[in-house]
Parts: sequence; structure tokens; C-alpha cells
Amino acid sequence: LAAKLETLRDLPSDTLDGQHVTMFGNIEFPAEVKPCLDRGAEGIGLYRTEFLYLTRDVQPSESDHLAAYREVIEALDGRPVVMRTLDLGADKIPNFPMPDDERNPFLGLRSTRLALKHVDMFRIQLRAMLRATTAGPIKIMFPLITNLLELRRAKMVLSDAMEDLEEEGIPFSRDIDIGMMVEVPSAVVMMDHFVQEVDFFSIGTNDLIQYALAVDRSNKDVASLYTGSDPSILRLIKMAIDTAAQHDKPISMCGQMCGNPIYTMVLLGLGLRTFSVVPAAIPEIKRVCRSVTIPQCEEFAARVMSLESARDVKTALREELIKIL
Ligand code: PEP
Ligand code: MG
Repeated sequence: LAAKLETLRDLPSDTLDGQHVTMFGNIEFPAEVKPCLDRGAEGIGLYRTEFLYLTRDVQPSESDHLAAYREVIEALDGRPVVMRTLDLGADKIPNFPMPDDERNPFLGLRSTRLALKHVDMFRIQLRAMLRATTAGPIKIMFPLITNLLELRRAKMVLSDAMEDLEEEGIPFSRDIDIGMMVEVPSAVVMMDHFVQEVDFFSIGTNDLIQYALAVDRSNKDVASLYTGSDPSILRLIKMAIDTAAQHDKPISMCGQMCGNPIYTMVLLGLGLRTFSVVPAAIPEIKRVCRSVTIPQCEEFAARVMSLESARDVKTALREELIKIL
């Protein structure tokens, strides 16, 4: 089977009825670009940039960031990359002093909230991202956006960084798509407002599941409750995809859910056309896409959306996947 999946590398992820599905890879380190391309990724849909903070004792400088970003861009040779800004805190503990008395770190000072609290640090990263545009095209994405004000503040720090670079005569491109993660239920509910503010969205199911179901994603005692098969999660995903489509805004998914083949058909049926997954999952997800038609997935999704429990959903997903493979 592994050899068979390998042969899929140079084949498109298009469905049997010829609908194009874009397959991107998720990375944390520049060296992971190659494994993504080797498995047929068309680009990088999520570059988690935290590794510079997680693997060394001193805070990374602007040139540390820039070197890493350039390496990624060069390895991609013109293919697209979505660079996500700092997503530290909670499950990603950095090498600088963090509040240690947080009772609920996942509900605390993490991600874009943390970046906005440490604007100097945030600005260093954004300057490096902007400067990296001279090496090739990038998109910038803000994580864990919860409300409009927070997004506007993050965008403001970015435009300040642009002005600073301009004043200093440092070259960069202003032609950058700005996007946000949809990974907090409030962002799904407010999507019709967020569409006015960004160029694209990416659904982060890892966090969306934990916040929608009130289940800590890293707590094994409640792990059985943590599932994308919960009908409420499918409804949130549908809301996000529908609202983005109504406003002609691109939307992708980069959470682990879209790297699990049992979800591929229902996600295609709900209208998802861009998947960003770990390199190891690319061939398998491609294989499912190439084995189905969109009308078939739409019909299946409509049936799944009427189910009332995670157990029923999971059973339906498994049965359908067995049928097509
Ligand atoms: C997510 O939450 O789905 C996501 C992709 O981000 P992370 O796993 O890095 O929190
Ligand atoms: Mg997340």
C-alpha cells in the first residue's frame, strides 16, 4: 500500500468528476518543506513559526526569523506558503517568562493575545516576515482570533511594521494576503464580519474542537469526548465554509481533522476544497479525493448532518470510507 500511495505523488488530488482539490502541507521546521513536496503538496498551508522560541535559550532575533523564513520560501521555489504568526502559550511553552499562575492556560494569555501583550516581540517577527517577501510570495495568518478588535489590533501592528521598514528604506512587498485562523467558536459566529477584514481563512479544528466542546485537547482523561465527529463541530465547520463562500473568500482547513481520511468525504461534501495536512497524510487524503465525486460527497454530507451523536457520525463516516476504498 505504501508503494501505491507513493505513486500518487505526481497525480492531482482532483475528484473523479474533475473538481480540483488543493493539497497543502503543514510544517514547523524549514526542513519539512521537502517531505511535503516529496509527497505532492502544492505548497504550505500552515507554517507554525514557534519553533524558534521552543528550541533555543535566547529569544530569536529578526535575522534568526528572516533566515528561517527565507529557507522555507527558497525550498518552495515560488509555491505558496501561509506563515502563521506567534501561537505561543498553553501547549507551546516558550523560552521566556510566561505567567505561571494561569489556571486555564488554554483560556489564558496565549497566541495572538500574547503577541499583542508583547508587541515588541511581535513586531520583530512581523518585520522578518515582511522582509522575507523579497525572496518570494508569502501569506500571513493570525492565530486564535476571538473578536474583531483583536484582529484589527494585529493588523495595525503589521501596518506599523510596514511603515517602519519603509522609513528605514528596507525592501519588502506590500502585496501580501492577510488571513486568520478560525479556531474559536466566536470567530465562526462572527464570520460575516470577519470576511470584511481578511483575504482568507483557515479552520483550525484542533482548537475549535476543544473550545466548542469544552474539552482540553491535551487532557487524556477527557480524550474520548474530544472528537471532530461531534455533530456540533460539523455544523460549525459548515457555517464557516458557507459564510466564506457567500463572500467569495478562500477558506482552507489546517487542523488534524482534515488529515484523517474518515473526514475527507464529509469535508468535500460541505464544500472544503483546500486541505493542509502533515506530509505523511497527503497521499492517503489524495487517494480518497481521487475516489469520489462531489455530488456523492454532498449527498453523504447531507445525510451525516442529520445525525445526532458523535457515535452515529463516526459509524457513518467509517462505513462510507470502506465502501469507496
Ligand atoms: C489548530 O488549532 O487546529 C491548529 C492548526 O493550530 P495548532 O494545532 O497549532 O494549535
Ligand atoms: Mg490552534
